[in-house]
Amino acid sequence: MWDLALAKLRHSMANYPYEHWISQLTQLGRTENKLTLGVPSLFTRDWISQHYGDLVKKAVHSVAGEPIEIEYVLDESRQLGARPPEPDPSAAATPSDEVVVGQVAPRAPGPKLNERFTFENFVVGPSNQLAAAAAAAVAESPGTQYNPLFIYGGTGLGKTHLLHAIGNRILERDPTIRVVYTSAERFLNEFVVLVKKGQMEEFRRMFREGVDVLMMDDIQILKKAVETQNEFFHTFNDLKDLGKAIVLTSDIHPNELPNIEQRLRTRFTSGLTADVFEPPFEVRIAIIKRKAEQERVYLPDDVAQFVASKVTRSVRDLEGALTRLAAHATLTGRALSVDYAEEVLRDMLPQRQSISIEQIQKVVARYYNMTAEDLRGPNRTRPIANARSVAMYFSRKLLSSSFPHIGAAFGDKHHTTVMAAVERVAARRTNNAAYTKELEELERQISGP
Ligand code: ADP
Ligand code: MG
Repeated sequence: MWDLALAKLRHSMANYPYEHWISQLTQLGRTENKLTLGVPSLFTRDWISQHYGDLVKKAVHSVAGEPIEIEYVLDESRQLGARPPEPDPSAAATPSDEVVVGQVAPRAPGPKLNERFTFENFVVGPSNQLAAAAAAAVAESPGTQYNPLFIYGGTGLGKTHLLHAIGNRILERDPTIRVVYTSAERFLNEFVVLVKKGQMEEFRRMFREGVDVLMMDDIQILKKAVETQNEFFHTFNDLKDLGKAIVLTSDIHPNELPNIEQRLRTRFTSGLTADVFEPPFEVRIAIIKRKAEQERVYLPDDVAQFVASKVTRSVRDLEGALTRLAAHATLTGRALSVDYAEEVLRDMLPQRQSISIEQIQKVVARYYNMTAEDLRGPNRTRPIANARSVAMYFSRKLLSSSFPHIGAAFGDKHHTTVMAAVERVAARRTNNAAYTKELEELERQISGP
């Protein structure tokens, strides 16, 4: 009976929905006025009965010669072991690769997570330790702790890398877990498209039923879209209630996100909030060496140190510098040396050259309404000491000067004093969003236009 109806449906439908949805149905039972069809998942059931229910009914009706009730039931035998891949709901809704879905079958075609972004390839240091550890914990047992995990920090510092690492690790252990990585921008676009088509429900379904782990990148963009925020709020709550894991990233702390509803912010911070900031010199060296190894570029130690001391702001820039060095060296056949690197990277680092400790002192002093002499002097009252610490912090961060050298530039302070000050500022930066902003503003002023 069902075979006949299938043949009819094949003729009357477009190829894609037939192959993708209808062909998954199997006849499980039949009574006089009822046909029982097995579905591989509840999601498929809902999708089919909503979109193709009438078509199926008609086909069966015409084969049987009379109206017959159709019942869809979950086919348990297809749940275990060789379960066919879950149809990708996003592919059905919009034929795009906007949403990356970890397929049930391990090697299913289609968009995938970036395989290079793994925990193994992620260099951990004080600047990303908490975020990396929390990410690893989420990958270990998704949805049980740190839910949501909210990672924030400047661009090029490894947020996206960590999301992919979580996804890769989860899928490595269990390829049937539906890991969805998307950016908030894509979420927003899909939402807009489907709402326009009147397919709000599909959108809901896609994100609520087709997901075990949701990772959404760069959610700061949601500030632009009130309606999408609302949708996301509900998606978020539903997923969380179902014990699904959620990981989010943003370029600033959730509490600093402008135009994001308070109730969303509260949700964002209800799990664990971890920041990533600019890696210190030692970590930059470790990263660039690791990359060089991966890319099979021979990078002498002094060149690695030189690059790490010049490129301080983002790991992405660090990678860019290495790529450029490698390309030049290959093309010209010259061996990499510090002089050569300086020449090749010169135009990449235009303002870096001109910054000095004196300049940092000037900018910081002006920002806090004091003089550079105050910072170099012995006065240890709170505001002056604080500003001095900040100036020391930037001398370390932006110039990677040695602690004794910085100490000398601040009126012969002891190097342990400098170390303590730098650490204090870095620690405070980690857990104080307003302070982070202040430091960012200062850094902009120091670096110039
Ligand atoms: P973000 O999303 O924070 O802007 P990405 O995750 O895209 O930054 O990182 C930019 C680049 O830097 C990527 O190629 C990433 O692999 C690399 N990267 C960032 N942090 C690290 C790290 N700690 N170790 C190794 N590579 C890193
Ligand atoms: Mg990113």
